[in-house]
Amino acid sequence: MKILVINCGSSSLKYQLIDMEGEKLLAKGLVERIGIDGSVISHTTTGKDKKVIKKELKDHNDALEIVMSSLVDKEYGAIDSLDQISAVGHRVVHGGENFAQSVVIDDEVVAAIEENIDLAPLHNPPNIMGIEACEKLLPGVKQVAVFDTAFHQTMPAKNYIYAIPYENYEEHKVRRYGFHGTSHKYVTQRAADMLGKDVDKVNLITCHLGNGSSITAVKEGKSYDTTMGLTPLEGLPMGTRTGNMDPAIIKFLMDKNNLSIEEVDNIINKKSGVLGISGVSSDFRDLEDAAKEGNERAKLALEIFENSARKFIGSFVTEFDSIDEIDGIVFTAGLGENGIATRKNIVDGLKALGVKIDEGANDIRGKERIVSTKDSSINVLVIPTNEELMIARDTLSLIK
Ligand code: ADP
Repeated sequence: MKILVINCGSSSLKYQLIDMEGEKLLAKGLVERIGIDGSVISHTTTGKDKKVIKKELKDHNDALEIVMSSLVDKEYGAIDSLDQISAVGHRVVHGGENFAQSVVIDDEVVAAIEENIDLAPLHNPPNIMGIEACEKLLPGVKQVAVFDTAFHQTMPAKNYIYAIPYENYEEHKVRRYGFHGTSHKYVTQRAADMLGKDVDKVNLITCHLGNGSSITAVKEGKSYDTTMGLTPLEGLPMGTRTGNMDPAIIKFLMDKNNLSIEEVDNIINKKSGVLGISGVSSDFRDLEDAAKEGNERAKLALEIFENSARKFIGSFVTEFDSIDEIDGIVFTAGLGENGIATRKNIVDGLKALGVKIDEGANDIRGKERIVSTKDSSINVLVIPTNEELMIARDTLSLIK
């Protein structure tokens, strides 16, 4: 059974075609600059050369049309006919409180995703466009929505209610939702496998560190607390996002720099984080290079990021009754999987808890491995995430 996984952003679209027998990747690709001059698709069928096509694509429907034609292309395609696609799994960013699980998409589901547009104005609209385009291009094929927020719907109220007047939760659903749920869920399952535990017994602190970063306390396989909030701005400082800061800074910046709320919103989302601190880059590889060359602000940006991760991990340890209950600290996503120095520095900061990294074992990128010493109080694991596979698995289980 072949499942197409779609992840629509505002001007980009990522896709993978997965054969669920053996969970084999058949093809994958990326469409960029949708609705902007210079649209381009890069498509790779497993075992064949990458194909790059430049073509004006005015919307997500155009983008998906070229995805479908690439999948069935005689020369560089992966399948003979679109009939071979059994279902489509969509990544949807915000499910609000409506969805604690993935669901088969119908009109009601689309209406609920629309209802949550206020909570994710940049993400939910392109997600809906992708769903509608697939309905047109693959009529009758079942579609499933997999939400970034769903995994975190198990959090208790004491971890999701903000200390603002309660009516804002009741009337406007202002609360912590958490994101990267598909990734936290995937690594939870893998960690349970690696440690030989049932997934519903495993206790973890999962660190998804990439351009966007979030850390989750996973109790008995379920999200119990997480660092991202109403939006993906809260928690750790990120590539360009502030993460936590004194909320009074917003008005202060408006007053001092004569800025509108929109301008400050742009600063805290796009010009802050490690980019804002360093003035160098939002990419951790660039920061490591600059720090090695003696750039003090790049060094400071890395220290602030690592310090924040250490403090969140430390605070999530207190969500459990004892350190012995915690089966592992997991590192995943671009930086978590590949950032050898970042992992070492974060774990070195957990000395007070008796967590110790094995530097030899830690010298890996993008591979599954336990990287802590034998006498470490908590196992430290590196697990490459695979959100697309998780979406395909959920899709398969729902259409069966
Ligand atoms: P996104 O949130 O966009 O999905 P990713 O999970 O792909 O992000 O992570 C991207 C980030 O991972 C990059 O910005 C980079 O800082 C970091 N990264 C990737 N490879 C390495 C590496 N080898 N060393 C350090 N950092 C890396």
